[in-house]
Amino acid sequence: MALQIEGLTKSFGKVKALSDLTLTIPESSFTCFLGPSGCGKTTLLRVIAGLEVAEEGSIRLSDRDMSRTPPAERNFGMVFQSYSLFPNLTALQNVLYGLECRGWAKPERISRAMEMLDLVQLADQAHKLPSQMSGGQQQRVAIARALAPRPTLLLLDEPLSALDANVRAELRGEFRSIQKELAITTIMVTHDQSEALEMADRIVVLNGGRIEQVGSPFEIYTHPKNRFVADFIGNFNVMQVGVAADGAIEFGSQTLTAGPDAKGMDLLGIRPEAISISPEPLDMGNALFGEVTKVRFLGNIQVLTVRPDCAPDQPLDVQLHGPEFIPQPRDRICLNFGAESLCGLSQ
Ligand code: ATP
Repeated sequence: MALQIEGLTKSFGKVKALSDLTLTIPESSFTCFLGPSGCGKTTLLRVIAGLEVAEEGSIRLSDRDMSRTPPAERNFGMVFQSYSLFPNLTALQNVLYGLECRGWAKPERISRAMEMLDLVQLADQAHKLPSQMSGGQQQRVAIARALAPRPTLLLLDEPLSALDANVRAELRGEFRSIQKELAITTIMVTHDQSEALEMADRIVVLNGGRIEQVGSPFEIYTHPKNRFVADFIGNFNVMQVGVAADGAIEFGSQTLTAGPDAKGMDLLGIRPEAISISPEPLDMGNALFGEVTKVRFLGNIQVLTVRPDCAPDQPLDVQLHGPEFIPQPRDRICLNFGAESLCGLSQ
């Protein structure tokens, strides 16, 4: 079901954790709240769950006002960073618990709990205690427990951040496919950009209790709206440019060709992988000569830092794939990029 959030404001003493926040979460979508520590993402999730009460604003689920509904009556499933399973109950008993609380009859609750353990591929571990399971398995049980009562909304608060990198990568894919299979509207809080890019249909970038940008991972990655989003999503070259009287974009001493969304902007961004290098200019729209100042070898990619002749105080990073041709520091190369790769950023 779709969730409409309107004008939410929440303070803790003098700290305004959420400021007049308005947002729609589409039905069956996987939405990530992404932002740095303290931006308000957990508070927003907790207000949605009913665990915190906002001073102002409303939360409606399919047009039903939930703002005053107690958490237990919201029928939302939640999974937290810490596995928060009952340590003295087996996996099966943990999943059964929520169904018992909701008054499900015994035969139905056992078949539903087993169905959910099967969904998270743990049917054969149903008798194990949390202490006999890995972190990843415990988090799968937590998901099964949250989904068992057929919640209308699934809320995930950094559910993968306590796990090691391999398990995290595996569970990203699994959680996403479970969410798609059940088509359950899901919100996940994360501070990990790559997690949000990989898992979400929509990313809500938060900063200081406000929304900076809402968009698909592709939109957020390729066209961040402003400097904050560009910096937070990482790996973005930000260029300070001048706009001449006739609208021409001057990057230091050279004029750039840019698309309509860069028009009139004095801050432009370009992804390092959108730049191609060559000894001589390619026919891509923009060609800047410069000197390589740094080469970083990162396994599958190399990142060059290049000082452009036209704007030596604004070095640009270029990302190369494959080890075929790696220029060395002090080499002179040409940087090529298309007009549409440049995006305008507000401050
Ligand atoms: P993190 O990733 O570190 O968990 P976050 O983006 O989830 O951060 P919140 O936990 O929502 O951020 O906090 C937003 C702001 O509200 C912060 O300044 C935080 O210190 C403050 N805050 C949150 N909860 C409380 C509380 N219970 N009492 C006082 N201040 C709080």
